[in-house]
Amino acid sequence: MSQHYPFELPPLPYAYDALEPYIDTLTMQLHHDRHLRAYIDNLNAALKNYPEYHGWSLERLLTQANWLPEPLRIPVKNNGGGVYNHEFFFDHLTPKDGNGTRVTGGLLDAVGRAFDGFEGFAAAFSKAAAGVFGSGYAWLSCNADGDPHIVTTANQDTLLTRGLIPLACIDVWEHAYYLKHYNVRADYIQDWFHVADWETATRCYEER
Ligand code: MN
Repeated sequence: MSQHYPFELPPLPYAYDALEPYIDTLTMQLHHDRHLRAYIDNLNAALKNYPEYHGWSLERLLTQANWLPEPLRIPVKNNGGGVYNHEFFFDHLTPKDGNGTRVTGGLLDAVGRAFDGFEGFAAAFSKAAAGVFGSGYAWLSCNADGDPHIVTTANQDTLLTRGLIPLACIDVWEHAYYLKHYNVRADYIQDWFHVADWETATRCYEER
């Protein structure tokens, strides 16, 4: 995606059917081509008449959203957050059926200490994701010292203003799972673990 206005829809980094049978093809098509595109189009539309912000990065717009002109604040938080969170979400999924890709190295040690092993982490993360009321995300994140934290965010809020580095996330908006999993978010969360990209999460942890 371009670094500033006009923001562009990046291609999905794998085929639409690559996450089958855990996340279905139609959900991926709609989620990427329609939902993410709508956030990008709406963000560009909001910024169109504010050329003074056309050179700003998405991260800068989001971290300084409260100081933007009033008509831009909510559109930037909602749509810019939607762009930022979805790009992270799609980039941190992998077709390598995961339980294949593993948390390793320093992240495995840190998660193991904080949550009583990876199994303990998975249980706590699943519970947090299931507990998001309405629409939002659950994240595995860490602070600058490398301490892991499970946090949830509502709507399209991001971690950018919380001083936390995102490592992995699950989108629990209904559009992320309803076609395949209907109302059973717990099944979607279980399937997400098969396609979560722990190699990338581990790299983010090491590069923090
Ligand atoms: Mn989504």
